[in-house]
Amino acid sequence: MEITTSTSRKVALVTGSATGIGLACAEAFAKAGYTTVLADIRKPAEQAAKLTDEGYRAAAYRCDVSDTQAVKEMIGWIVSAYGRLDAALNNAGIQTPQRPMAEITDDEFDRTVAVDLKGVWNCMRYEIIQMLKQGGGAIVNTSSQGGVTGFPGQAAYIACKHAVIGLTRTAAIDYAAQGIRINAVCPGVIRTPMAEELLRRNPALEAALVRDIPAGRMGRPEEIAQAVLWLCSPQASFVDGHALLVDGAFSIH
Ligand code: NAP
Repeated sequence: MEITTSTSRKVALVTGSATGIGLACAEAFAKAGYTTVLADIRKPAEQAAKLTDEGYRAAAYRCDVSDTQAVKEMIGWIVSAYGRLDAALNNAGIQTPQRPMAEITDDEFDRTVAVDLKGVWNCMRYEIIQMLKQGGGAIVNTSSQGGVTGFPGQAAYIACKHAVIGLTRTAAIDYAAQGIRINAVCPGVIRTPMAEELLRRNPALEAALVRDIPAGRMGRPEEIAQAVLWLCSPQASFVDGHALLVDGAFSIH
């Protein structure tokens, strides 16, 4: 049913990889030689097929990361198809409508937590179970510059992104001795469909955001991908439990 190709020694999973940061990261993993599973709530078949057409090893898988059983089945499928999982980027995320905290509904809060926090929790749990069996691996969770700062009108999203860093740090300590490195990447304002949607709802925001970014511009998805690839590489072998800001100096400004 899924697109499969020959096995490779290194296998990577990227959730939320139909578009935006996740797609750029999946492309970077594939181009670095990983057999790469692109997972998203809508099966990213075309995106995976484009990579295989270019000669890289990639597969598409449909998975809602907020669904614990679906995540368990996804990891099971990866292991049955490729035998292992070396690197995982838990990146799928949603934003809540931009409103002051007291105006965010319970349903909006619950769905944000289900995807942005429980989704990371679900993925990490089954990735770690597999990585323990094979003797190690590298996990990166997508937080945000909003994981270390506040942002108006985004209380539920920002709370989840802070929580992802806490989860990353604690799990890193839990599994460091077993060869599993767990880090977070904290993107700044990156020009993706999610950012475009935010800017569409608030056109005045772009000028204000760029004004506050010392680098003077929004970031590119490929710039996050290079950071993620490094965090998963042997070159980062002593980097563990770190939340890496890739934000053009916004959050320290
Ligand atoms: P994006 O373009 O909206 O991509 C996110 C992808 O995740 C979409 O394909 C989305 O599908 C998918 N997704 C949503 N809910 C899912 C679920 N339950 N299970 C599986 N996949 C799901 O977002 P992005 O801007 O690339 O952001 C990627 C990550 O970076 C997110 O965690 C985001 O919070 C974080 N981030 C982004 C920025 C930025 O400036 N862009 C800054 C900081 C952090 P649908 O489109 O169908 O919903």
